[in-house]
Amino acid sequence: MDTRNKPQSASTERLQMYIGGQWVDGTSGRLLDSLNPYTQQVWAQVPDASEGDVKTAITAARDAFDNGPWRQTTPQQRAALMRKLGDLIARDAERMARIESMDNGKLLREMLGQWKYLPEWMYHFAGLATQSQGEVLPSDRPNFIAFTRKEPIGVVAAITPWNSPCLLMMFKLAPALAAGCTFVVKPSEHTPVSTLRFAELVEEAGFPPGVFNVVTGGPDAGRWLVSSPDIDKISFTGSDGVGRAIARAGAENLTRVALELGGKSPQVVFEDCDIDAAVNGVISGIYAATGQTCMAGSRLVVHRSIHDRVVERLVERTRSIKLGDPLDLSSEMGPAATCQQFQKILSMVKSAEAEGAKLAYGGRQAPEGGYFVMPTILTHVHNKMNIARDEVFGPVLAVIPFDTEEEAVKIANDTRYGLAAGIWTQNVQRAHRVATQLRAGSVWINAYRVTAPFAPFGGFGHSGIGRENGHDGFNEYFETKTVWVELSGNLRDPFKLG
Ligand code: NAD
Repeated sequence: MDTRNKPQSASTERLQMYIGGQWVDGTSGRLLDSLNPYTQQVWAQVPDASEGDVKTAITAARDAFDNGPWRQTTPQQRAALMRKLGDLIARDAERMARIESMDNGKLLREMLGQWKYLPEWMYHFAGLATQSQGEVLPSDRPNFIAFTRKEPIGVVAAITPWNSPCLLMMFKLAPALAAGCTFVVKPSEHTPVSTLRFAELVEEAGFPPGVFNVVTGGPDAGRWLVSSPDIDKISFTGSDGVGRAIARAGAENLTRVALELGGKSPQVVFEDCDIDAAVNGVISGIYAATGQTCMAGSRLVVHRSIHDRVVERLVERTRSIKLGDPLDLSSEMGPAATCQQFQKILSMVKSAEAEGAKLAYGGRQAPEGGYFVMPTILTHVHNKMNIARDEVFGPVLAVIPFDTEEEAVKIANDTRYGLAAGIWTQNVQRAHRVATQLRAGSVWINAYRVTAPFAPFGGFGHSGIGRENGHDGFNEYFETKTVWVELSGNLRDPFKLG
């Protein structure tokens, strides 16, 4: 974002990058401003990394992986360091939550909830690190035993978005460290501060230099990072447009690429649901983080017989949402994270109205001014409209009625995405039947937005490639090596081998 004309707050912080265990300025001397979206003041400045800085970080991670002590550590030693880091995160959770609120405008109470749970990622993957990896294979060759070894994939380049910088980094970092990889992360140019502060905790925990590196910068720094032939895996979370560019960059060097992208997730509300619970779930699904989450439940697919009743209840509850300072614990919704995002949200609502959607509530800048958008409900939407197909990444709910279960599933699945879905019904058979048919990486029944380190997370279709968290996410950080051992010691005929 261009913040050249934005006022700086009196106490603007100046941060350095963390490369090879050192705190360094950027070699270009250029700085990036980090803007607090609530005060609209520049509150921190970070280096805008040059191509040389990015290379230095990759070299540090490469060297730490190829030659450093990290590769030689036992899983138990890595797990001990990770548990220590988990404890430090727990100790500083409140301070870190505050930093992220100031950087992206998300509610402090939401960020506190997130940060209190973040140590679990370190603890969970520390546990997995010490469980046996690989297996003895059921060989049909009497003269051989064969087994697999799980070996760390190498240097991981992580690129994260602005909406939950450290949580989304943790999805990548915890399994990568547990596997024995080294790591270079580039946070979003809009929210670089928490990742740099996080590096202080990594340093305090005692990780060897080069295992964890942070470079700050915008798309150029991202491009330099992902196009390097010296990285082994790219793990990206962000928009599908950038995801495509990153997949292309990865293809050039045949680097492994994992993508966590956007969504247009349905909340399917059946006529036999508990309406109070469903309304709460829909509200939290779309307005949490001001709708700026990949898993936002942005399409409400609701049975026609309860459509009006549900919309009425939603409008009633939405009207009472308290917008305000993200650091005030009584606020229920904060501003959009950037000016660009604020403008995009309002322009998508306008286009939806031009397509025939009707505003049941909101649709304008909120009286609080700044980047505050009113929480918005659009009715008279059908699934072919752009507002039902494109990700808004804002507090905008599109309501689409259905008549039969079959039609509900069809509407829910009629999307290029497939990240998440909610089902609201008290009929247990229907809940399972529909969950089986939905094409989405996470399905919640009578709930929404629950994630955990042990549960795989990721998307079908354009919502991404690969999974994070759980065993599936852990496996993404290994190469599998098969080792064959000949047992007779008597291989004399070269044409009889194997
Ligand atoms: P974005 O794609 O604009 O940027 C994400 C990151 O990519 C930033 O760090 C940016 O500097 C970097 N980048 C931009 N261009 C690049 C390039 N050509 N090469 C390398 N790096 C580049 O996304 P955003 O606006 O920060 O975040 C919002 C998007 O993220 C939404 O689409 C949302 O759905 C998605 N998201 C997905 C998940 C998930 O887990 N699936 C979670 C959160 C957000």
